Amino acid sequence: MDGCLFCEIALKKRPAEVVSETDEAVVFKDANPKTRVHLLIVPKKHIASVSDAGDDDRAMLGGLILAARDAARREGLAGYKLMFNVGRDGGQVIDHIHLHLMGN
Ligand code: AMP
Ligand code: ZN
Repeated sequence: MDGCLFCEIALKKRPAEVVSETDEAVVFKDANPKTRVHLLIVPKKHIASVSDAGDDDRAMLGGLILAARDAARREGLAGYKLMFNVGRDGGQVIDHIHLHLMGN
């Protein structure tokens, strides 16, 4: 979507510290990390938030969790948090679905 920061990163139109990529998602370092490892798993498809996802997005959304699992393994994390912020009241600032992976 035009003007969407995370679409631009996913399509490589804007730089980010990308650590891995699948057909459906990119994984990159959060620019303002809250934990030692703080990655964002971002689908290439623009969907504003979890509350805007449809039933057709079920497999893609599951893929985000498995991409996070793989990234956590590569980072050597024994435990970690996975979090979606949903909507302004849920703390979401960027209106393109992203899964936070946080670990120390
Ligand atoms: P949220 O509050 O869930 O919308 O989280 C947005 C996250 O995106 C925050 O943790 C920001 O630090 C992060 N962020 C914002 N801009 C960038 C960027 N250009 N590259 C990487 N991370 C970013
Ligand atoms: Zn987008």
